[in-house]
Amino acid sequence: MGTGRLHVDLSAIVANWRALAALARVECGAVVKADAYGLGAVPVAQALAAAGCRRFFVAVAEEGAALRRSLGPGPEILVFAGHMAGDTAALAEADLVPMINSLDQLTRHLEALPGHPFGIQLDTGMNRLGMEWSEWAAVAEIALEQRPVLLMSHLACADEPDHPMNGYQLDLFRQMTDGTGVPRSLAATGGILLGPDYAFDLCRPGIGLYGGLPFDHAHPVVALDLPVIQIRDLQAGEVAGYGNAWQAQRPSRLATVSGGYADGIFRALTGRLTLWHGETPCPAVGRVSMDLIIVDVTDLEEEPESLTLIGPQQGIDDLARAAGTIGYEVLTALGSRYARQHHAA
Ligand SMILES: *Cc1c(COP(=O)(O)O)cnc(C)c1O
Repeated sequence: MGTGRLHVDLSAIVANWRALAALARVECGAVVKADAYGLGAVPVAQALAAAGCRRFFVAVAEEGAALRRSLGPGPEILVFAGHMAGDTAALAEADLVPMINSLDQLTRHLEALPGHPFGIQLDTGMNRLGMEWSEWAAVAEIALEQRPVLLMSHLACADEPDHPMNGYQLDLFRQMTDGTGVPRSLAATGGILLGPDYAFDLCRPGIGLYGGLPFDHAHPVVALDLPVIQIRDLQAGEVAGYGNAWQAQRPSRLATVSGGYADGIFRALTGRLTLWHGETPCPAVGRVSMDLIIVDVTDLEEEPESLTLIGPQQGIDDLARAAGTIGYEVLTALGSRYARQHHAA
């Protein structure tokens, strides 16, 4: 069984997409960058396309080209990185829409692919990607003549509803785009939850589709059981794992489980990680190693064949909290060794 089976519930992803679209009350695309946050961009996008999603966002052109091969013509695929040097062939062949981020990118795009659709990303204060006010003011007229398909910006603090940055970015986005007549997009998952002012014409959720915060009404999407490779019984005083970092305080039964930091079980979870056998919590002991963790199963009545890392007792954001990170990183770190099993929508 190797490193365990990662169950991905496509029907939950579709239900989350519908729920977010209902909240937004405008067209809802889907962000499937980083292999759909590690869950498999092809099956995820196919399920969402079958449910009616027409627009998919990826980070870079290579991801878009791979997605186009499996989705076929039809759905729009937009690329956040825009038109980078070396992207021209991929953008043309795979019919991708770059989100142009700068005057340099605009020049490159209009020269290399005249007439090829593009959008424009505007920076409203995050200082990450997109044209800021002065750059946009200088090129807006030329850019708008070429009829961009979308004007978008990204919120820096949308997961904090009371943060003054949200209103600031909203106002600035309006000032930069009012009267252009071009469809607009501002909200990712967090922005949708800020309310209808943030919805504009198109929303672009990612994490909320995959069951993560800040969408706290999301259906859980991921389940992960790790197989037990070996079980052993220790006497009080014996030690386990690298560095002898754990010592048995009582006669103990330990299960060695397939899965480690190479599979996204962060080493920083050492001392803070719990796996589950049904309703029974089983603490991991000793240091998380690359391929293995050791779990104290003394309190179980039977020898377990597998233990649950992600499931009803422990979601991705619980794991994230224990590791001092966010659900996004837990998902994208899950790694390539798990067999991903997609359950039909
Ligand atoms: C990743 C990303 C999204 C999706 O954000 P979520 O918080 O996962 O919903 C939307 N827009 C941009 C520009 C992004 O980089």
